[in-house]
Amino acid sequence: MHIVFAASECAPWAKTGGLADVVSALPKTLVKMGHKVQVYLPYYRQVAKMVPTPPVVLPSVTVPFPYYNRFARILDGGVTDGVQMYFVDVPELFDRESFYATPSGDYPDNAERFGTLCRAILEASKIIGIPDVYHVHDWQTAMLAAMLRSIYYFDPVLRHVPSLLTIHNAGYQGWFPPRTIETLLMPWDMFTLDKLEQYDKLNFLKGGIVYADAITTVSRTYAQEIQTPEFGNGLEDVLKKRAGDLFGILNGADYSEWNPATDPHIAAHYTAKKLDGKKECRRDLLHAFRFENVSDNTAVLGLVSRFATQKGIDFITSIMDRLVQEDIVLVMLGNGEEYYERLLTEMAERYPDKVRVQVRFDNVVAHKIEAGADIFLMPSRYEPGGLNQIYSLKYGTIPVVRATGGLQDSIDERPDGGGTGFKFWGYDPEDFFDAIRRALTIFRDKKIWKAMMQRAMEEDFSWQKPAQEYVQVYERIVKNRT
Ligand code: ADP
Repeated sequence: MHIVFAASECAPWAKTGGLADVVSALPKTLVKMGHKVQVYLPYYRQVAKMVPTPPVVLPSVTVPFPYYNRFARILDGGVTDGVQMYFVDVPELFDRESFYATPSGDYPDNAERFGTLCRAILEASKIIGIPDVYHVHDWQTAMLAAMLRSIYYFDPVLRHVPSLLTIHNAGYQGWFPPRTIETLLMPWDMFTLDKLEQYDKLNFLKGGIVYADAITTVSRTYAQEIQTPEFGNGLEDVLKKRAGDLFGILNGADYSEWNPATDPHIAAHYTAKKLDGKKECRRDLLHAFRFENVSDNTAVLGLVSRFATQKGIDFITSIMDRLVQEDIVLVMLGNGEEYYERLLTEMAERYPDKVRVQVRFDNVVAHKIEAGADIFLMPSRYEPGGLNQIYSLKYGTIPVVRATGGLQDSIDERPDGGGTGFKFWGYDPEDFFDAIRRALTIFRDKKIWKAMMQRAMEEDFSWQKPAQEYVQVYERIVKNRT
């Protein structure tokens, strides 16, 4: 099968979160299974820094707007692990400091930026190769699915091509003023509640939900959760309507990137059978955060996260005063909302012997934390799939998670340390603190803890099984359109 991935992120070129990891790992696995995959990604400034002079595949693809045209160049990003990358180059839209926003808010022309991306991908693929399926991701490319079934309806080469939308996070939907529909040259009769309108705004994600042939989300639990008001963010009804075409497929982990036996970013390698190297990684991590003389009995707690309310960062700040009374040190890496960046920095200043934070995006430090910490914290308010807890399992870094979405599906708590981690259910920081204390109690029993680490490390969340599930969905939507 031939699949075109249309996405706004793909590791290592452009990444802010799990979306990038999925768009990087799933195509590789599909190629190994014998499929042909092409990934289209914006040629952001950051991508241009990594690949300064890629060959030009198509010098000019026209994307019309009401009073002008934009022109996209399609660049050859090369073939990595059998996956063909294409970059969509529209300098006035993508040659910017960030992908989506500045500290003062989203780029005001995001609808035009990602609307252009969708149309350029459709036009380019008509020349380069029409796939059997377009696989679109999150709001940024969801409108490709809506365009296919509306303004491209009569296109003889596209009208039978189905699309799959994967929702990596229903909290980000791409809301734009109603007039955007005109800007994108789409008909006003699509601006109704059963199509693209949501609370008098044009909603890109909703466009994908309504028009894609099928929808997946990144865990089974989240597929259920988003059909409720608490998690659907206003889209629960439209999602419920599509329940028959909505599937939860838990994210896999790319073990060629995240494996303590081979990871080039960590101080020493280790496996479930030979754990010694983890001690070296712990020392290296403590050194990287400038901690000295931390006893082996002290639990090293780690956090790698976007600093956002979604991630339950406020749970951490609200228990901090009591957490530091325990025999722990806490190392955190992340960036995002300025409020949390400042609050966590203040806490690190208040408890310099116990708490350290690095406010930035740093892949190497993320690997060091996964390898060097004893316990990984992930108290998300909601978590569609979540990757860090799956990485943590592989590194024998026991996760403490809130039982939601992919965290619920991937972590197993049993009494007395019999599972692979610790979970809490409530929205309450107290419940989180209790779960950490349960973890610390087991941590003190070295034998049970070691068994728990080994059990966690032996869990298999590789991409093979999820990739097969995606193929089943591709096959289903191809069949339904023929
Ligand atoms: P989300 O996509 O909601 O941010 P996930 O757990 O699905 O959350 O994926 C997060 C990914 O981003 C992981 O690969 C994680 O290691 C990485 N990550 C998040 N914040 C940082 C950071 N500050 N530095 C390096 N990597 C980060």
